[in-house]
Amino acid sequence: MKDDLSGQKGGEATRLIHAGQGRGRKYRTVGPPIERGSTILMADAASLYDDDLTTYGRAGLSVQATLSAALAELEGAAKVRLFPSGLAAVAGAMLAVLKAGDDVLVCDTIYNPSRRFCEHVLKRFGVGVRYYPPRASAEDLLALATPATRLMVIESPGSLTFEMQDAPAIADLARSRGILTLMDNTWAAGLCFKPLAHGVDISVQALTKYVGGHSDVFMGSAATARPDLAEALTSAIRDFGWSVAPDDAYQMLRGMRTLATRMERHAASGLVVAKWLEQHAAVAKVLYPALPGADDHDLWKRDYAGAAAVFSVVFKPCSDTAIAAFLDELRIFQLGYSWGGFESLALNCDPQFSARQWPPKLAGPSVRLSIGLEDPADLIADLEAGIAAMAGV
Ligand SMILES: *Cc1c(COP(=O)(O)O)cnc(C)c1O
Repeated sequence: MKDDLSGQKGGEATRLIHAGQGRGRKYRTVGPPIERGSTILMADAASLYDDDLTTYGRAGLSVQATLSAALAELEGAAKVRLFPSGLAAVAGAMLAVLKAGDDVLVCDTIYNPSRRFCEHVLKRFGVGVRYYPPRASAEDLLALATPATRLMVIESPGSLTFEMQDAPAIADLARSRGILTLMDNTWAAGLCFKPLAHGVDISVQALTKYVGGHSDVFMGSAATARPDLAEALTSAIRDFGWSVAPDDAYQMLRGMRTLATRMERHAASGLVVAKWLEQHAAVAKVLYPALPGADDHDLWKRDYAGAAAVFSVVFKPCSDTAIAAFLDELRIFQLGYSWGGFESLALNCDPQFSARQWPPKLAGPSVRLSIGLEDPADLIADLEAGIAAMAGV
């Protein structure tokens, strides 16, 4: 046995390299131990080739395993696999189940970098990619399928414009035709909507957003209840060599512990701010399915147990200069991509619509807001000042 390497004799270099090594775990802490290891020291020669043992750290050690187990609980999944970013999880899950000659139907409102992956990588490897409008019914969607259609990619609500899709109906019809479904469920954070319980085969999310919650770490997850798909995800991760650092996994796990509590506050503040915006004379519409009376509110209410606090506000027709004046006037809302952190963020949407096959027909320019954990009254005052600045240009 080579377990205890401390107390090594020999030259100083040898002694310094092995001093204190192999002392083992002594304390039981609330969080799992962070094991920073590529190499795992094996007990004896036979262990080096024992397939039942973990012999290398790439697939993760204690922290990553604890995070996967916690996410499996969140998603109601048999297995959850971790990826270095949300985008890597979307791309990786697609690569895990697709082959040349397959056809994929993708929601037109998909997160733009996910679309770029489809265009740049899937097409190059002989996978056909077609898009469908976000409010296509399950029947319309199935009518687009061909015998080559292997996968449907749902993102609901859609990025920037927040159209809801009837994911349960799509999953149901797709399954009856032997087509897999993958849903990017980042908005619901695995908490407000449970894709697997509604028949979706693979639930993906960018943990970077709400699960992390602090805008400081990248990670993604893919969850499934099906053993064959869990195996496909595991193989893809092994074959591509994707790995997640233990420190990042630890931070993600820490975020997960407060997820449910934070989401409640996000959702409550989001609704207060959205209601205030909705009645403002400068505003044409608020795109937020959790808002009573908003587009797709009934679908949201039917399937969702809660809401994220990311939505868009459509202003009445005005110039780009007025939108820039609005954004530049904001003091509490900061300008930045991403969302789901404790801090409020804003971003103008319109420059991103050109990637779409069916750009949205909105009354005026739109701005996406991520409502953070600040006092909602302060956020409203900030928005009010921003809107006042629009009038001055
Ligand atoms: C941010 C985001 C991603 C990508 O996550 P990263 O961790 O930034 O790669 C994927 N899907 C959606 C809906 C997102 O908002």
